[in-house]
Amino acid sequence: MHCPLCFLAQRQNENFGLGEMPFATVRAAIENALKEGLREVIPSTMGEPLLYSHFSELLELCVVSGVPVNLTTNGSFPGTWGTEQGMRSLLRACRDIKVSCMGFSEESFSEMMPGGNFSRWKANVEKLVALANARLADRESAPASPCSVSLQVTLHRKNAGEVLDMLRWAESVGISRIKWNPAVFLNTAPTELAARYALGKDDLHNLRQVIHSDKLRCEGSLFFASDMPSGAPSAASYGADVPDFCPFDDELWVLPDGSVQHCPNPERRYGDPAAPAAQCSRCLLRLAPRRGS
Ligand code: SF4
Repeated sequence: MHCPLCFLAQRQNENFGLGEMPFATVRAAIENALKEGLREVIPSTMGEPLLYSHFSELLELCVVSGVPVNLTTNGSFPGTWGTEQGMRSLLRACRDIKVSCMGFSEESFSEMMPGGNFSRWKANVEKLVALANARLADRESAPASPCSVSLQVTLHRKNAGEVLDMLRWAESVGISRIKWNPAVFLNTAPTELAARYALGKDDLHNLRQVIHSDKLRCEGSLFFASDMPSGAPSAASYGADVPDFCPFDDELWVLPDGSVQHCPNPERRYGDPAAPAAQCSRCLLRLAPRRGS
């Protein structure tokens, strides 16, 4: 799709991706991690996970292994994943399905997810939530664990005026949670990208004031800095409020070639490892809650 805010698009002089992971590598990684107490699998690709050609096998391996999947998808539900049967397979294997939302109008959606279709995206989400809620209601006779459906909203200048429309729609269709994350710009990103899309500190402060719901949970990195009047320059600013551990220190990130990384900081992984935001002492990810919600 070549979404403009993708971290892969924010790099300079790099090949676009790392290729597709062989399923033997997936299997070996999961089987090894099971010995260490694997709690969940997060298929994270910097692309659309449901386009992975072995995704059905991945789901089946996780179900058989008793390990839930924590899925983030762009909501296009390609191929059979958009059918009721496909969505039921996802709900059976996943603990949470987060659907990315980059825009909530035809105009912002098509600019931020080129080639996507806003009406189809909405219809897909509504169908998934209806199936998830029907499954929950039927939990007595279907003992599989419940799967929540969340939205993951990337906040930027083009959709900041749409947040209340998103929130009211999400409440009306029965979404259980929205993660509100301001767009992240790597040190390597073209300056015009931030100039076009970045929200200012006062914009973020205003969003924190208006985003509130009695019907669903509002979380995400927008609220990591809730005690600050206007944004957060770095984790170091928080002093004693910043945990002295990394919330991701029990995660393993397996790359397509089978190599392993421990740190999910996008500046370190995709951008400039020497940049201040890539250093643990200035890493805002330290303010994130540990995984599990
Ligand atoms: S840079 Fe951030 S995410 Fe990475 S290890 Fe340090 S604290 Fe953790």
